[in-house]
Amino acid sequence: MASPLSAAAAGAISWTAAEYGLHRVAMHVMRGRGLPSREHLTHHADVTYFSPATKKLASAAGTTAVAWPVMAATTNRRWATAFTAGMVATYFAYEVAHRRIHTHPPVNRYGRWARRHHLRHHFGAPMRNFGVTTPIWDRLFGTDETTGVITVPRRMAPAWLLGDDGEVLDGYANDYRVAGPRQSGTLQQARDHAAAFTNAPPETT
Ligand SMILES: [Zn+2]
Ligand SMILES: [Zn+2]
Repeated sequence: MASPLSAAAAGAISWTAAEYGLHRVAMHVMRGRGLPSREHLTHHADVTYFSPATKKLASAAGTTAVAWPVMAATTNRRWATAFTAGMVATYFAYEVAHRRIHTHPPVNRYGRWARRHHLRHHFGAPMRNFGVTTPIWDRLFGTDETTGVITVPRRMAPAWLLGDDGEVLDGYANDYRVAGPRQSGTLQQARDHAAAFTNAPPETT
């Protein structure tokens, strides 16, 4: 049997597959049916909304409750524990990475890629770019979208993207442009909600 280290690595890779599959099917294809989809599409309608920590702990517990018994039954308990630990650790790393994409500027090439990939998912093509931490599953399943400058509605733009004048900072101008007003009224919020729950990109006017 392989070492616990390779079991943990297998768990980490399995998480990235789950990240892709859950995001695509349980959240987007479901269009608001079920809690995970409602929570996620609410995040699309209002990008400052993130599920509370209690729901994340419940997801981690759910992942463990499925992964550990399956792995223990097919391999052994030590391998199952290392696999599950790798999977859950990568799940939490994903949660941190996803939040930072929205709240913090990129600090390296990977961070720039992760922001372009995920913000294109939000603002350009909600049925593309389901992977958040890695593009491998999008490439494998043909949902990778990389071309062009991303148009971000100014009302949804991450704070790190804009200067005080509400325009895209020079360093990001090759990747992003912004459009529309900074504030959104209740009517716009209703339209953003409707767009999110039908997997349409938000209006950019
Ligand atoms: Zn997001
Ligand atoms: Zn999404």
